[in-house]
Amino acid sequence: MTAQLIDGNALSKQLRGEVAKRAAALRERGIVPGLAVVLVGENPASQVYVRNKVKACQDSGLHSVLEQYPATLRQADLLARIDALNKDPAIHGILVQLPLPAHIDAQKVIETISPAKDVDGFHVASAGALMVGQPGFWPCTPYGCMKMLEAIGYDLKGKHAVVIGRSNIVGKPMALMLLQKNATVTICHSGTQNLKALTLQADVIVAAVGKRNVLTADMVKPGAVVIDVGMNRIPDGEPGAGKLCGDVDFSAVKEVAGWITPVPGGVGPMTITMLLVNTLEAAERG
Ligand code: NAP
Repeated sequence: MTAQLIDGNALSKQLRGEVAKRAAALRERGIVPGLAVVLVGENPASQVYVRNKVKACQDSGLHSVLEQYPATLRQADLLARIDALNKDPAIHGILVQLPLPAHIDAQKVIETISPAKDVDGFHVASAGALMVGQPGFWPCTPYGCMKMLEAIGYDLKGKHAVVIGRSNIVGKPMALMLLQKNATVTICHSGTQNLKALTLQADVIVAAVGKRNVLTADMVKPGAVVIDVGMNRIPDGEPGAGKLCGDVDFSAVKEVAGWITPVPGGVGPMTITMLLVNTLEAAERG
């Protein structure tokens, strides 16, 4: 079997087109959805991520401001800046790019963002809302994975979903979202014994680990849906060295799975797209 590809670029294009239309409708009412992106320090990867986020906003007709501060910024000054953004009526969403310098308490920073503007969905209020099934912002990466399942018309009811990884930003919220759609969910982590025995039972596998080839073809049930969240680089000395790859052994797993997301061009673009969706919804909620 050769799996069908779930194309994150194509789905993103469609969803961003819908965001642009809704943003235009808001503008007619005098509201321009606005996202503030805050970057502290000079981490090169973070600089690329924030530039991509700001550009995606502009391309979809959202207003965005990028605030860059040196790595020496005091925590108190960052909190004061977030407080000002909380009160700024032109800003509907606030994103603080992680990681932050070691002297800054990232959780404290996240908790300072107003839950009404927490478009990354990392605030405990957002996490709690997801937990109890109340409206709130869903973290963009797992939200994007759910949109991919929705796009292929996959009914999760009664299906067994295995999530590999339990981080607060991907694995745990992913599991809750799958549960909300009535899947039976297993969460795996570094202490899980016999991962293969679990993944072989799965109708849906979400790999969110950050290690190449965590999921190989012998671990996948024929026809399963495989979503690859991982972002890794192929090490020096191997074919394709330096290129982006996921957690899944893509070329072999695609021969077994029914559906599969590629890396790049899968979950990555969906993450930014869901940030736009959340920002738009923050503006619509007013
Ligand atoms: P993280 O915080 O490092 O979490 C990784 C998780 O994987 C942990 O729960 C860890 O278990 C688990 N794990 C580690 N080794 C394992 C193994 N051998 N078997 C099973 N589980 C194992 O990472 P994250 O922030 O969730 O990100 C995961 C990956 O997704 C990374 O590659 C990241 O770059 C990528 N990512 C991509 C996007 C995107 O937009 N495409 C967005 C976010 C993240 P323990 O809890 O026991 O340590």
